[in-house]
Amino acid sequence: ADLDTLDIIVLGVILLGTIAYFTKGTLWGVVKDPYASSFAANVGTKPGRTRNFIEKMDETNKNCIVFYGSQTGTAEDYASRLAKEGKSRFGLNTMVADLEDYDYDNLDEFPADKIIMFVLATYGEGEPTDNAVEFYEHIRGDDVSFTNGSSLENLKYVAFGLGNNTYEHYNSVVRHVDETLTKLGGTRIGVAGEGDDGAGTMEEDFLAWKEPMWAALAESMGLEEREAIYEPTFAIVERDTLTAESEEVYLGEPNKNYLQGTPKGPYNAQNPYTAAVAESRELFNSKDRSCIHMEIDISGSNLTYQTGDHIAVWPSNAGNQVDLFLKALDLTDKRNDVISIKALEPTAKVPFPTPTTYDAIVRYHMEICAPVSRQMVSTLAPFSPTEKIKTEMTRLGSDKDYFHEKTGHSFYNIAQFLTVISEGATWDKIPFSAFVEGLNKLQPRYYSISSSSLVQPKKVAITAVVETQALPSQKAPFRGVATHFIAALADKQNNGAKSDEFDLSYQIGGPRARHTGTHLPVHIRHSNFKLPSDPSRPVIMVGPGTGVAPFRAFVQERAKQAQDGADVGKTLLFFGSRNAKEDYLYESEWAEYKKVLGDKFELVTAFSRDSAKKVYVQHRLKEKGEEVHELLQKKALFYVCGDAARMAREVNTTLAQIISEYRKVTPAKADEVVKSMRAANQYQEDVW
Ligand code: FAD
Repeated sequence: ADLDTLDIIVLGVILLGTIAYFTKGTLWGVVKDPYASSFAANVGTKPGRTRNFIEKMDETNKNCIVFYGSQTGTAEDYASRLAKEGKSRFGLNTMVADLEDYDYDNLDEFPADKIIMFVLATYGEGEPTDNAVEFYEHIRGDDVSFTNGSSLENLKYVAFGLGNNTYEHYNSVVRHVDETLTKLGGTRIGVAGEGDDGAGTMEEDFLAWKEPMWAALAESMGLEEREAIYEPTFAIVERDTLTAESEEVYLGEPNKNYLQGTPKGPYNAQNPYTAAVAESRELFNSKDRSCIHMEIDISGSNLTYQTGDHIAVWPSNAGNQVDLFLKALDLTDKRNDVISIKALEPTAKVPFPTPTTYDAIVRYHMEICAPVSRQMVSTLAPFSPTEKIKTEMTRLGSDKDYFHEKTGHSFYNIAQFLTVISEGATWDKIPFSAFVEGLNKLQPRYYSISSSSLVQPKKVAITAVVETQALPSQKAPFRGVATHFIAALADKQNNGAKSDEFDLSYQIGGPRARHTGTHLPVHIRHSNFKLPSDPSRPVIMVGPGTGVAPFRAFVQERAKQAQDGADVGKTLLFFGSRNAKEDYLYESEWAEYKKVLGDKFELVTAFSRDSAKKVYVQHRLKEKGEEVHELLQKKALFYVCGDAARMAREVNTTLAQIISEYRKVTPAKADEVVKSMRAANQYQEDVW
């Protein structure tokens, strides 16, 4: 067995820790040693990286695998919650798996006494998430076959989807996967759940789905429910010989290359590029709202982009929120203590590199500002500082209506919630592993690139509205994580004129303050939202608010093409905002593009608060119905970007009305036309 030094230290510390832990509290009842057994099994067995998940389950003695297809981390979070719950309530031997990590040709050999769970997000226009593409294509292929044929009659599965009802293809990935697996002979246990982000009920949909699912699964597999016992998936090991100054300690660096000060490409969703901010400026003319135009320099990297792509921004948390979190858990004095995190199961992945400090984990890796989830409250209840608080926590965790009555309007994040509930008592009994397991990983945020790669291939522009939301029951408003980080960078770059406005104290220089200028970790995500390859084709663009971002790039590109002598087709843009004085984005730039493009460029504006009657982009679109119709006859491409909830739908409806009116077809037929435009990529959406 190849015990390395750390393993030995860990093992020792864990055994001591466990004894201390279990003798201190009576919470667990049974004095069993979950660390020692599962950890001992782990040591020395370093399983090779197989792409055969059945083999992997056998090797690690699992009977339940929870696959996730996740883009923004929520599906991944739900998957690990299911795995934990399956283990603690039903004694299942669970593992969580990234769909991308395995092959599916042996799906027909999956044993009948085991279970697969799928947690699948639907992304964009009904597409699977990046990590689910191969699986999705494999099982849905025309001539799908498995090792022994094409029947999955042994396969038992459960399924939950994450979607948004404002999109046309609501939860289509889970629906298609479910339909396909059933058609191939598989048996679904319980119903295929659907969570709706559009209605804001994702979490409650998930909670409501899983109870009957567990009951059905318990019946099908003959499982017996027991009192849920918290069993950590990770061990927290204090590394007394290291300090925050030690060079092997991660202080927020995303990986080893960064730690050594020599970041290397390829840069992608696992490895961000820390780009210099070339320029940033305020676009609004308002005292209480802000929208930032930022130019990000990718010239030192091998990153490339195309007009219409997205850039992902990796934020870090505001210092005041980090402080609040550490204080609520009585960790303020230990914030710079060095810890390692060890997976107690061979299939669990430690979500960030260690050794590291509490401060770095909370600042760089945990989504601490999101509203607290009811399930988290339930998980933390046994660790309450007093019996009275425990009773309250248990009730909040199990009673949906009570939870919403108490917290619904406050949107407390985890630290605010714990602070309010405990009325001053500290939460020093919660194992830190509960947060490592139960809180989402801090997610990168996407922005539609607002520059043209033809004009500036190595400088990416974004147009970001700074999210601030007043909360009735709290003094301070909610402040968006990424957009305030961006705002703080912009402020630093422009000499801190606004720094007193909100004291959020970011680590602007990044881990170890390596950067003296302003830098932002990013990666690029390629999209299908693209201008026609033939510039003479007309384009119609609808982009109110920051939805105008990719269209600034489109118009910038068409102006450049015209300057270079191309025959550029009609470029019709609908832009809308509240009023012309405060939030008319890129007003002066449009005039410049107009000089180059002349009649080829037409900007139609809708300012909702400039007149008694509220005017939105869809109203202007309707007024311009005849021209829109004529451009479509000339094969114009139609683009919509921005608010998915209402605007994109209204625009779709309006376009169908225009088609019905001017082509003199029935509304039903017009709907069909729009659908086929979408299918042929003549109608493209970039909505969020
Ligand atoms: P977050 O912290 O993520 O919060 C987001 C929202 O959640 C808040 O506004 C609030 O309503 C709610 N919320 C979260 N926690 C709480 C809480 N505790 N209490 C109350 N409310 C809470 N945005 C742009 O500005 N420009 C773009 O060009 C753009 N393009 C995009 C393209 C794509 C493909 C996608 C998916 C999104 C795009 N977005 C764009 C949105 C962007 O990714 C971010 O979602 C947005 O900037 C907010 O990020 P944030 O971290 O500041 O807010």
